Amino acid sequence: MTRNLCIVLGDQLSQNITSLKNLRKEDDKILMMEVVNEATYVNHHKKKLILIFSAMRHFAEDLKKQGYTVIYSKINNSSNTFTEELVKQCKNTKPKKIVITHPGEYRVLQEIKKWKKIVKIPVSIVEDERFFCNINEFEKWAASKKELKMETFYQMMRKKYNILIDENGKPQGGKWNYDIKNRKRLPKNYPSIPKPLEHKPDNITKQVIEDVKGKFPKHFGNLESFWFGTTHQDAIKSLNEFIENRLELFGPYEDAMAQNEKFLYHSVLSIYLNIGLLEPKQVIDKVLQKKNIPVESVEGFVRQILGWREYIRGIYWLTMPKYSETNYFNAKNNLPEFYWTGKTDMNCMKNCVNQTIQDAYAHHIQRLMITGNFSLIAGINPKQVCDWYLSVYADAFEWVELPNTHGMTLYADGGIVGTKPYAASGNYINKMSDYCKDCKYDVKKKEGEDACPFNYLYWNFFLTNKKKLENNPRLWTVFSNIKKMSKGKRKQIQNDSKNFLIQITKT
Ligand SMILES: Cc1cc2nc3c(=O)[nH]c(=O)nc-3n(C[C@H](O)[C@H](O)[C@H](O)COP(=O)(O)OP(=O)(O)OC[C@H]3O[C@@H](n4cnc5c(N)ncnc54)[C@H](O)[C@@H]3O)c2cc1C
Ligand code: SF4
Repeated sequence: MTRNLCIVLGDQLSQNITSLKNLRKEDDKILMMEVVNEATYVNHHKKKLILIFSAMRHFAEDLKKQGYTVIYSKINNSSNTFTEELVKQCKNTKPKKIVITHPGEYRVLQEIKKWKKIVKIPVSIVEDERFFCNINEFEKWAASKKELKMETFYQMMRKKYNILIDENGKPQGGKWNYDIKNRKRLPKNYPSIPKPLEHKPDNITKQVIEDVKGKFPKHFGNLESFWFGTTHQDAIKSLNEFIENRLELFGPYEDAMAQNEKFLYHSVLSIYLNIGLLEPKQVIDKVLQKKNIPVESVEGFVRQILGWREYIRGIYWLTMPKYSETNYFNAKNNLPEFYWTGKTDMNCMKNCVNQTIQDAYAHHIQRLMITGNFSLIAGINPKQVCDWYLSVYADAFEWVELPNTHGMTLYADGGIVGTKPYAASGNYINKMSDYCKDCKYDVKKKEGEDACPFNYLYWNFFLTNKKKLENNPRLWTVFSNIKKMSKGKRKQIQNDSKNFLIQITKT
């Protein structure tokens, strides 16, 4: 007889996960499941599947070494769903209670809520304590505000946790936010940038690579040269490496992009944070311990984790499931095939998609201002765009992917996450990167066949959505420029956009 059957999901691989607290070695059992539906509900990148399954198998081995009983179902002989596997394991273990930490995705929560009826055993869903702000606290905070803004939330969190606050209760360095100092373009002769730590696959990972190769050969992405860490020790090494080598210049070049620099000064830690190999508090503590780092880098980094990451999660749980159904601009175009293949003449898009195919990674500005910006101004259907982001990035879990894509990037929520759509023309991309110099299109040209498509699509987007956006004070300059545009120019923009969109979205 089992007392508690404690379930650990693939993104809950933390030593301190709540469902494993008060665990009794003698009469509790741990259940971990690799199931087909979770691996296939979108076309997950092969490297993402390898990361999660390998990290799960390593975590299970660790628990076994500590003397716990772990029941583990591997993908090769597993059930289709969590529920099917649970039913099977409940028959074998006859637990008095099932304990599970609150899942990261709404879809999974709905499945768990049905378990009690199906297995006729009490199910306790315990809070995920790894976050700085729990779901109820965010709800209360949101209810007390007329308008939701990341910045207000972030300041509240800084004060609550006394992070980067001086003795007088003021923000260290005098400002709450150094975003203005986070926008430098990479200089021409920049010094070589150390790459993120590459971890050599061990026997467990090698087996997972074979399993994924055999079971999911048609999934997106390259599986060769797998280099992610898959244990807590690996993740800590990666964290230390980032702090030593890239944190100092993280701030100034946070928004920069470069053809030959996939990672720039970014941490590449979301892959570990999102599955529990690192905990946000641990990451921030370590970053704050490092001396002599410019404030724009420390604050910039803290803002991403304590601010954006927590805020995005709060918005997700506050607004689901309705959130995912909105389509503010009624965008209907199909996602172009080149999002999956990288076969396009737009050099910026080609670069971002190709590195995604290879590494299941792109940094924030590539996701927001290249692939995201394009899908916004090309009017691609939000569901198709969100499915793409959820598939192709190793760090993609719906709680963090959806508000970033649907809200911040596509403005499909009508302005819950962002105060204006992040639409940009080729000029912005040219200013922040070196993509344009090797592109077939001319970034300086605004119209005609060889003009940069971002240029006419940008204006076409605002012309199409004029009614919905013209009263937004942050878009005043855009619409005053539109007012000055001749009829002929507008027509040209609309024609160029129509022709281009027909070409790329006919699939
Ligand atoms: C369209 C779109 C989709 C995205 N999808 C995801 C996703 O599925 N999973 C994901 O973790 N992030 C997502 N992000 C946010 C961000 O792009 C990634 O967290 C970041 O690129 C991960 O790389 P990094 O670890 O090198 O981050 P760094 O630039 O080094 O930032 C440090 C950490 O801050 C956190 N962070 C930074 N920005 C955000 C943000 N906007 N929201 C939440 N956390 C943030 C991450 O945990 C990240 O590891 C998305 C952003 C956009 C624009
Ligand atoms: S010219 Fe336009 S399409 Fe080409 S790289 Fe620059 S922004 Fe991208």
